[in-house]
Amino acid sequence: MIRVVVTGAAGRMGREVVKAVSRTPGMQLVGAVDPGHTGQDVGLLAGIGPLGLMVRDDLANVLRETEASVMVDFTTPHAAVANIKTALACGVRPVVGTTGIPQEEIEELKKICREKRLGGLIAPNFALGAVLMMHFAGIAARYFPDVEIIEYHHHQKLDAPSGTALQTAEIIARSRQGGPAEDRTEVEKLDGARGGNLEGVRIHSIRLPGFVAHQEVIFGGLGQTLTIRHDSTSRESFMPGVIMAIKKVLELEELVYGLDKLIFG
Ligand code: NAP
Repeated sequence: MIRVVVTGAAGRMGREVVKAVSRTPGMQLVGAVDPGHTGQDVGLLAGIGPLGLMVRDDLANVLRETEASVMVDFTTPHAAVANIKTALACGVRPVVGTTGIPQEEIEELKKICREKRLGGLIAPNFALGAVLMMHFAGIAARYFPDVEIIEYHHHQKLDAPSGTALQTAEIIARSRQGGPAEDRTEVEKLDGARGGNLEGVRIHSIRLPGFVAHQEVIFGGLGQTLTIRHDSTSRESFMPGVIMAIKKVLELEELVYGLDKLIFG
């Protein structure tokens, strides 16, 4: 049995994780942490009926008392970093979906994992289709250096651009030889009209009710465009990746960034 604690258990993603872990053979949900919902039954919050497991706010105690082996975190960047450090101090492996964690924090967490020889995973996107989209974008970038990204998310998403868009841009930047075909001098008549720029890859972020998580990577060439698009139409799309990560993180001895590393090696 893999003993799992969920942080951010009352949130949109946390509730899905509670459902998925509870239904997966070989896993046991042993703890739920979310300071704004202490004392509530986590099963009721997730809409699957009472589990007799109450939400708490004292993560370190929960991890120790439950002898957890994995912590799954979908919270906020600030909370996630603190939660990961607590988990590692307790010898518990973190599986983290929270986006917007600054790069320097990730480097520090990698160092702690190396020192403790503890595995962990931070993935900006747990949907298999999104991982494939990024992989295909990396291949296409070798042939089409001109590319822009449009990402669409629900209006309550706090960070922009999305972690997926940033990771896609990094993959493209690493993969393409040189920069975009033409170095244009542009006039931006409205600040931000051309989006953010990561190593020459433009990223445009849409935030509207009705969306879950979607992304288009548009490559432009002579007389043609190539669009690679992925749509998460429900948060269930992330769960097979989360469940896979909970299993695989037990074999890791370092902090890995990106689900692609687990899928493609
Ligand atoms: P959400 O609905 O706001 O849920 C976050 C939950 O964490 C809230 O209940 C929040 O409580 C709680 N929280 C805050 N501080 C905490 C702490 N110190 N310890 C434990 N819980 C704490 O957000 P969401 O839509 O689930 O998204 C969460 C994160 O996952 C975001 O960064 C989002 O971008 C990311 N995400 C990742 C993926 C992926 O595949 N990697 C997919 C979707 C979303 P309060 O509301 O009371 O503050």
